[in-house]
Amino acid sequence: MATQSQTVERKSQIKEQYFDYFLILDFEATCKENEKIYPQEIIEFPVIKINAKTLQVESTFHQYVEPKVHKELTPFCTQLTGIIQDMVDGKPHLEETLQSFDKWMLDNKLLGADTKSLFVTCGDWDLKTMLPSQCSYFKIPVPKYFGQWLNIKKGFAEVTGSYPREMMGMLSSLQIPHQGRHHSGIDDCKNIGNILVELLHRGYVAKASCSNR
Ligand code: AMP
Ligand code: MG
Repeated sequence: MATQSQTVERKSQIKEQYFDYFLILDFEATCKENEKIYPQEIIEFPVIKINAKTLQVESTFHQYVEPKVHKELTPFCTQLTGIIQDMVDGKPHLEETLQSFDKWMLDNKLLGADTKSLFVTCGDWDLKTMLPSQCSYFKIPVPKYFGQWLNIKKGFAEVTGSYPREMMGMLSSLQIPHQGRHHSGIDDCKNIGNILVELLHRGYVAKASCSNR
């Protein structure tokens, strides 16, 4: 007797969103084990653009970035992030990377007044601490669009009622398989994106949770 295949359709409760696009961002930066590094510098700059209606990834910006002060990555940093020296040597510095990113924003029609996008990060470190502190150290202006974002942990807490410690805990609680390598910026973006999509399926309406403006 032939077995009937059972397709279990998940009930989605996606609500109308205030934003047209979600821009998932997750920096990796120079680091040492059990020690602060100053200035800390971004070495991986990935952003994934997700259409808020279709929930599909439409475009990706991904650049490894050469640090200027601590040019040599520590073995700890390479072990943590998977970023080896060759991946940053000769790459653009933060200043040029910000220019390329601005062009990507323009090419993706994300700078017009009629398109609303929201950066989404895991925690507030990326846009509250890391980018402003490095820009201040090198006297680079911070583009205005980095002034507000959603910390996905706040969205997770709103939907589930409990505040998460970190990304891996959110994935396992939502029963989403982890993709790629933890602490690879681009893979972290994919996983944060999957968390956001799951929260949207559960009826979450995304809002900015933090602002530097
Ligand atoms: P994450 O987004 O969690 O992958 O981390 C972003 C950055 O925070 C890393 O690139 C490191 O610079 C720093 N970081 C994360 N975890 C650690 C750790 N256990 N020790 C030192 N630095 C860390
Ligand atoms: Mg990361």
